[in-house]
Order: sequence, then C-alpha cells, then structure tokens
Amino acid sequence: MTVGVLALQGDFREHRRTLEALGADVIEVRRPDELDAIDALVIPGGESTTIAKLAGLYGLMDPLRKHLRSGLPTLGTCAGMIFLASDTVERDQPQLGVLDATVQRNAWGRQNESFEAELEVIGLDEPVHGVFIRAPWITEIGPDVEVLAEWAGHPVVVRDGNILAISFHPELTHETRIHEMLLDMIEGDG
Ligand code: GLN
Repeated sequence: MTVGVLALQGDFREHRRTLEALGADVIEVRRPDELDAIDALVIPGGESTTIAKLAGLYGLMDPLRKHLRSGLPTLGTCAGMIFLASDTVERDQPQLGVLDATVQRNAWGRQNESFEAELEVIGLDEPVHGVFIRAPWITEIGPDVEVLAEWAGHPVVVRDGNILAISFHPELTHETRIHEMLLDMIEGDG
C-alpha cells in the first residue's frame, strides 16, 4: 500500500520514517495528481497557516477536500489537525473543513507550551506517550466525531469517519500504533 505524506512544511520526514518502519511505501505529496496514487494520507505537524498557504499556492485545497470527502483514510497531527478542522477559535485561516470540529491553536498556555503526557487511547491496550508542542485542543465536535482520547478534559485524539486527528506527535517517539490505526483504516477493518 502507498501512503502519501503532505510535504509542504513541517515534520513530514519523521512521518515518512514511521510509515516505512511499518512496511508502507511512502510518497511525498506536493501536487494534486499525486493524490490519485495513494491509499492513505498523513498531514504532519508544523505551522498550520504556512501549510494552508502553501496548499493554496500548489492548487491542493480543492483536490484535498475532494479526496478526503470521498473517503481517503487520513491522519493529521497537531498543525495537521488544525488544517483538517472546520473552524478555529478567534482566528480566520484557511482550513479543509473535513473534520467536524473547532480547534483552539496553541491552547495549553505559556507554561505548558510543550509537555509530555501518558494518554489512554480507546482501542489501544497500553497508554500512548504524547509529545505536545504548541499543540491545539478541540473545543467543539460534531455529533459523528468519536473522541478516542482526552487530556485535561479536552479531546486530543478524535476520529470522524476516515479522518483521524491528534493534537500531539507520535512520529517524534518510537510510537507506531497511531500510524497502524491509519493503515488499518485502509484495509477497512480499523
Ligand atoms: N502551533 C502550531 C499551529 O498552530 C502547531 C504546532 C505543531 O504542529 N507542533 O499551527
């Protein structure tokens, strides 16, 4: 199976390494036609406004929406979560609007700009070590969005059909189970 990693900005190389460790073929996606060649997509962490701006310049906004709305399994981490969501608290920035959620950027406050936490995630037996870096949290979700993990009362792992979005960075640790969840979604058994 071939997994695309949106490679406009952010830590796409780390996602590539995790996916390759799981045996996936990986391509870096920068052009609309590359979306036709993939079975799943990862949108990395980075800076959501930069990712959105470059996606606009590369003509990727509508092709991404089309593929994601037609069921392409997709994982977004941190800035990727923000880019997937439908709205952002107190900010007006381009988003794909395929995840029925409102996010708050840099939500944990100055003291907690970056922190690590052990998270219970529904569907996983052992906790996930979450590395949060200027991370978002979710303030509102639509009725069809499942919350798979929370931290301090805020959803940090959610699934909306074919979209899996998380606030932290599994690609920066030795964690592979989140990417495995994405690969299971391709096979339709996740
Ligand atoms: N703070 C960034 C944003 O708002 C996200 C940070 C990250 O992806 N680690 O886009």
